[in-house]
Amino acid sequence: MPTRMSGHEVAKSVYAELREELSSLAYTPALRVVRLGEDPASVSYTRLKDKRAKELGLDSRVLALPEETTQEELLDLIASLNSDEDIDGILVQLPLPSHVDADLVIESIAPEKDVDGFHPFNVGRLWTGGKALRPCTPAGILRILDHFDIDLEGKEAVVVGRSNIVGKPLAALLLGRNATVTVAHSRTRDLGAVTRRADVLIAAVGRPGTITPDMVRDGAVLVDVGVNRVGDKLVGDIEPAAWDKSSAYTPVPGGVGPMTVAMLLANTVQAARWRRE
Ligand code: NAP
Repeated sequence: MPTRMSGHEVAKSVYAELREELSSLAYTPALRVVRLGEDPASVSYTRLKDKRAKELGLDSRVLALPEETTQEELLDLIASLNSDEDIDGILVQLPLPSHVDADLVIESIAPEKDVDGFHPFNVGRLWTGGKALRPCTPAGILRILDHFDIDLEGKEAVVVGRSNIVGKPLAALLLGRNATVTVAHSRTRDLGAVTRRADVLIAAVGRPGTITPDMVRDGAVLVDVGVNRVGDKLVGDIEPAAWDKSSAYTPVPGGVGPMTVAMLLANTVQAARWRRE
């Protein structure tokens, strides 16, 4: 029977560790989540981040600005958060409205407060192996693999998807663990031939049914990052029928999803320690 790798279980252990760490700190790490507009998905993500941060005992606030906030106004707000000694983590919820340059906004966040790990300074450090705040979803995936004792050393890891928030940073983290990494994408020829090589196969595409059972090697470890709404159900990118061929898999929902917020809070505590100690 394959191991079902529950992200809820792993997130619980992250929260327990953070609680213990926080009890030894003389200060309360502070997180500010900035949102423009009322896009329902962004409202629900920012609320969840704030709720979990407060449950953990962090000083957290959502700064909800109107959709028509100008780029200059947003940059001014970030500048004031950057210079506020009491603030440890700044997160700007993406996507931003089209009149705002998201890259410019990300680059305006002080790298030491960039708890999403998207600033080019942190991205560079991720690849050079230096001290960096790491993007939350890829960091959460490594944490799941560690929790379930999945050895990466020398293994064939195939990442399907090359976004800046999941695929690319995940490739860097896997390489850092001495896996042999292949990154596949929409222009990859014969995706199945590539995925069948994988000891560890990670799908981060956003398209249900991208990975079918015939594309999976027997005994592979499957990690599904995809979150797709099909009718009233959430499904991943990997067909559940492929789980039977695996040695371990993350379900959707309840796999990678719960880890992203947990790692955001871990990054906030980490940012506070690095900045204040
Ligand atoms: P994205 O920016 O849209 O990137 C999707 C990637 O998939 C692209 O690199 C694209 O290739 C590739 N792709 C598209 N169709 C493909 C195909 N037929 N075969 C192979 N590759 C293909 O998406 P993302 O932001 O990385 O997110 C991916 C999924 O993960 C989404 O479902 C998202 O909701 C989910 N997600 C979940 C969490 C979580 O916490 N659980 C966090 C982040 C994202 P090209 O580069 O060639 O276009």
